[in-house]
Amino acid sequence: MNLVALPAFSDNYIWMLHDGRSAVVVDPGEAAPVERALEVHALKLAAIVVTHHHADHVGGVDALRSRLQGPVYGPARERIPKPYVPLEEGDSIELFGTRYTVIDVPGHTAGHIAFYGEPAGEPPVLFCGDTLFSGGCGRLFEGTPAQMLRSLTKLAALRDDTRVCCAHEYTLSNLRFAKAVEPANADLLKYLAHCEALRERGLPTLPGTIESERKVNPFLRSSEPEVIESARRHGAANDDPVTVFATLRHWKNEFR
Ligand SMILES: [Zn+2]
Ligand SMILES: [Zn+2]
Repeated sequence: MNLVALPAFSDNYIWMLHDGRSAVVVDPGEAAPVERALEVHALKLAAIVVTHHHADHVGGVDALRSRLQGPVYGPARERIPKPYVPLEEGDSIELFGTRYTVIDVPGHTAGHIAFYGEPAGEPPVLFCGDTLFSGGCGRLFEGTPAQMLRSLTKLAALRDDTRVCCAHEYTLSNLRFAKAVEPANADLLKYLAHCEALRERGLPTLPGTIESERKVNPFLRSSEPEVIESARRHGAANDDPVTVFATLRHWKNEFR
């Protein structure tokens, strides 16, 4: 199975799974990059998968329908271009013979979902939209810190080798913030250097893995002593993980 990140807009990725004949795309915010990739690899479009309702994730859906030979899958509790198959936690879909389970991950938007599958003989794949980013997480447009932390905790519990397919290339700015939170985290400093080298060569930093996110992403580390201490210095009133998480999220919004 081929897993490709198609760059879109200024920093989006539209993830494409293909087997050399058919393709599935995730969060096509615009149609053109998908159409080009289908032509270059001579692929049929077998399905479209959507994680949440933002325009940079659904904007290309209707323009792709004329080539689409299968369903559009999307979150049950959000406004997605119709017709589509509404999904929520407990549902699953089959893509290329692999079952992808749906995980409810509210926080960035109220009905955001993620898709997790374990293709035979390959590391698992997670399509998490704007919930978990490498080194960071989505802004809380429609949810509470407690909801988002619960959502991220579900994703952090997935298999170590899970390939984390996020929808934006925000990694370097996220890791620079992470470094401000945990300046002594050696794994983080190493990962930042690795990602800087990738970006210098124009390559995506994604997909990362759940194992490395657990080591470097401060939003998955709100129970770590150094993270708590930093949050306390930035206004956290106590050591509670939700308080620490909320403080980090607020701090990140202002961080330059
Ligand atoms: Zn979004
Ligand atoms: Zn987005």
